[in-house]
Amino acid sequence: MNIVERLRAHQKKAQHGISGYGKNLYENVNEFCAEIYADTGLAADRIDALEDELFKIGRMEDSPCFVCGYNGPNYYQPSTHPCAERHHALKGKDQ
Ligand SMILES: [Zn+2]
Repeated sequence: MNIVERLRAHQKKAQHGISGYGKNLYENVNEFCAEIYADTGLAADRIDALEDELFKIGRMEDSPCFVCGYNGPNYYQPSTHPCAERHHALKGKDQ
């Protein structure tokens, strides 16, 4: 189940007063929030990995930047454009 399906399942249980809801609503909400954090953390890791692959093949050379959209002066200077640091570190790796 994805997050939306799980949220709907939790709402349904709460609406129908299924056992565990009501008495322990606070615990259930906390548990569900922990699940969301785990899922979004996983998604963030996967996005980072995908971005790394794109940096490796030099995708940042086609401006605007595919990560942040920057397209201004000092494009390759990390002090101006932080993504440039990943570009310099990763470009050409594993090729
Ligand atoms: Zn950028």
